[in-house]
Amino acid sequence: MDPSLANGLDMVKELDRRTGLKPGDIDAVFITHEHADHFAGLAHFPKAVWFAGALVAEILNRGLAFARKVEAAPKTMFGAVEVLPTPGHTQSHHSLRFQCEGRWVVAAGDAVATRDFWRERRSYYNAVDPALAARTIDSLANLDSIIVPGHDNYFAV
Ligand SMILES: [Zn+2]
Repeated sequence: MDPSLANGLDMVKELDRRTGLKPGDIDAVFITHEHADHFAGLAHFPKAVWFAGALVAEILNRGLAFARKVEAAPKTMFGAVEVLPTPGHTQSHHSLRFQCEGRWVVAAGDAVATRDFWRERRSYYNAVDPALAARTIDSLANLDSIIVPGHDNYFAV
């Protein structure tokens, strides 16, 4: 999700450090929103299907000259991963939710920037609608989950 490193060598190193995987092992990439720091490394995953929420896919396909299109993600991917609308940071922002070892995990992107932003129900600095972003954080707080924020390590709710 959200391949952020434009430099190919850096992207390969970071993927290996965090997962032990190589870019060729990745079947699908999901982009949470249209800010460049969340897709700068997309081209380093040429074998993967590139997914995003429908509006994000439209924005990216309209504005950027990728080698191929970003696909509009279905509501549930691979029968197991929910694509959740999480507006506020951008209107089109989407996060992913799935179960892992009996816990829900929300890969939140910039809907939750860091744990401190979560605690304060505060949107990230460049949010288009801070009040909506706060309501989105509240809606995620109702889920007993592990949150993976956009700019911090994961934490339990
Ligand atoms: Zn952002």
